[in-house]
Amino acid sequence: MVAKIIDGKSLAERFEEDIKREVRELKERHKVVPLLTAIQVGENPSSAMYVKNQRKSCEEVGIDYQLHQLPETTSEEELLKFIEKLNRDDKVSGIILEMPLPSHMNARGAQMAITPTKDVEGMNPSNMGMLVYGSPRLAPCTALAAMELLKSTGVDIKGKEVTVVGHSEIVGKPITLFLLSSVMESATPTVCHIATRDLASHTRNAEILIVAVGKAGLIKGDMIKEGAIVIDVGINRVPVRDETGNPVLDNEGKPKMKTVGDVVFEEAVDKASYITPVPGGVGSLTVIMLLRNTLTAYKWQMEKRE
Ligand code: NAD
Repeated sequence: MVAKIIDGKSLAERFEEDIKREVRELKERHKVVPLLTAIQVGENPSSAMYVKNQRKSCEEVGIDYQLHQLPETTSEEELLKFIEKLNRDDKVSGIILEMPLPSHMNARGAQMAITPTKDVEGMNPSNMGMLVYGSPRLAPCTALAAMELLKSTGVDIKGKEVTVVGHSEIVGKPITLFLLSSVMESATPTVCHIATRDLASHTRNAEILIVAVGKAGLIKGDMIKEGAIVIDVGINRVPVRDETGNPVLDNEGKPKMKTVGDVVFEEAVDKASYITPVPGGVGSLTVIMLLRNTLTAYKWQMEKRE
């Protein structure tokens, strides 16, 4: 069997068009557009890249984007006050806290300070709680992206054996809750993690396998059930190697790097029925889910003001 590739990019384009249209309609009807605000504390190259992508994606759909850069020396109390100010600001539709925060700050506490209606990353306990109840309004973007890719196959998940590898708050756990979210259409999830004793026995049993770990090469072809749907959430940077296994160097003599998932794609593609590529899978859709959440947050706030 050769798997069909689930094309995250084209799905992202479709969602992007829908968001663009809705934003345009809001602008025409109410003369406003949603505003996504990001808070970055101190300098960090990885969050700088996220900020750049967020700004570009917002521009593409017409959502306003504003970055607040606070100095590394900001105290936790000052950050919480700043978040509170944005919570009260009617112009602000969504708030993102760029990670990592400096080590003197409690990231979870800061995330919890974002009011639920502006929590576009879906990390506030009250939004997580709504996910437990099966009716989330704002949920973590990566989990939403993984679920949309799964849904795009058109395969009925009801009752299906699904193995989720990884149980983080931001990816694995919310995905598991989504899989259970409807009484009528629930799948049968098994959740594996670092302490799981025989990972392969669980992955081989999966009709749907969702992997969110962050370890290149973790899931090999022989760990996948014939005909399974494979959603690879992992993002890993690894050196490019030549046929003899030696790293390929760039013009400056540094090893060339590439992005891969947690699944050995070349092996998995011969076993699975559907598979997401990395890059071009979950990652392509995650930022779009952030934009969709911003729109949802905007509408939620409007309802509350009516
Ligand atoms: P995390 O480090 O918070 O969690 C990793 C999870 O993997 C934990 O549950 C841990 O128990 C489990 N784990 C670790 N080693 C394992 C092993 N050998 N066997 C089974 N389970 C193991 O990571 P995260 O934030 O959930 O991210 C997971 C991956 O998803 C990373 O590669 C990250 O870069 C990627 N990610 C992608 C997107 C996207 O947009 N595509 C977004 C967020 C995260």
